[in-house]
Amino acid sequence: MEGAVTSARALFAHAVDAEVCLPTGAPGPAASTWVAGGFVRIRVDVPLVPTLYANQQGGFRVSCPSCSENVVPVFAPVLAELRSTGAARLTCPRCAVCTPIAELHFAPKAVVGRAALVIADAADGHLHDRVLRDLQERFGPVAVVAARVSAR
Ligand SMILES: [Zn+2]
Repeated sequence: MEGAVTSARALFAHAVDAEVCLPTGAPGPAASTWVAGGFVRIRVDVPLVPTLYANQQGGFRVSCPSCSENVVPVFAPVLAELRSTGAARLTCPRCAVCTPIAELHFAPKAVVGRAALVIADAADGHLHDRVLRDLQERFGPVAVVAARVSAR
């Protein structure tokens, strides 16, 4: 799991080197090479426990990978368990298969992670494809989660 933290920090250092952002996280001269229209800030998020990175506004769907049952009605306590213990499993109310939270099916995509590079207030909801490919070649698996978050 520490690898994720190291990778998120390495991603940030790479963004600074590429002038995508300044060391403060503010947009650099090359900001729009990562996200069309740029962004307001980049930061490294290292929560105390593994966190579900997911869309927070406009909702998302969660389903059982075994039977496709919609498990949103029983998802809240599983998310609370993840937040308090860093791990959680959901027992499907339809087929009774017990699945680790990270293996549930989310739409739009959501990821349980130990760290993230957060591109805040991005004008566009995704990285340019060539940038994502380049980052995956440099740093290994990188997942992009587009999320509308509550204002703060
Ligand atoms: Zn099921």
